[in-house]
Amino acid sequence: MRMVVANWKMNHLRRDAEAFCATLLASYRPVDGVVAAIAPPFPLIPVVSRLVAGSGVRVYAQNAHAEAKGAYTGEVSMAMAMDAGCTGVLLGHSERRQYNGETEATLLPKVKAAAAQGLMPMLCVGETLAQRDANETLEVLRGQLAILAQAPVSPIAVAYEPVWAIGTGRVATVEQIAEVHAFIRKELATLMGAPGAQVPILYGGSVTPENFAEILKVPHVAGGLVGGASLDPAKYLKLLEIASL
Ligand code: PEP
Repeated sequence: MRMVVANWKMNHLRRDAEAFCATLLASYRPVDGVVAAIAPPFPLIPVVSRLVAGSGVRVYAQNAHAEAKGAYTGEVSMAMAMDAGCTGVLLGHSERRQYNGETEATLLPKVKAAAAQGLMPMLCVGETLAQRDANETLEVLRGQLAILAQAPVSPIAVAYEPVWAIGTGRVATVEQIAEVHAFIRKELATLMGAPGAQVPILYGGSVTPENFAEILKVPHVAGGLVGGASLDPAKYLKLLEIASL
């Protein structure tokens, strides 16, 4: 199975989302084995969910809270995300780690809460440039993935996103992606046992229609988590087409 997940981050107003979905749905046809998902900002989740209903396109949240309800001003629960139309949730995106203090301690209960709610968690992992330069990449990833030993939930997906490749136009080389994806596959087997072999491992970091085909040829790469290029429906359609080849 391949997945192409559009992470809109904090972009688009309602009219942009409507225009995006109109263009997308005019050409989109579901293909067996290729999952298309859009992760809009919270206020646009019901808008996008309503527009893509019945098309096969899935909607993800970009984050959600571990607690089911209560006095958590500014937060959104897993149940709320699902109620608004989501079937999955991004967890641990590097921007949330960087700007919102997301850590393994906050992510473990989120992974459990998502799975308990029936939302597919997509756990994002990745090293900074300083960590790569210090040869710490695999150790960092091991630490980020370790929570799955305590939350061996299924289904789940992992997205490898080197922080230095996100939004920078600098893509990891196929050799770097190959090394890390093989490592993650082995780690998942160690942490989760046999189900670890089924976990889709996506690559994210400056994916475009120009580089996606090469990236998809790398062993253990099951698709892309895409930021910038996913804001343009023509590019997103092209990425879906490439994933279906
Ligand atoms: C992302 O947001 O997860 C991402 C990979 O962004 P970009 O494609 O813009 O690098």
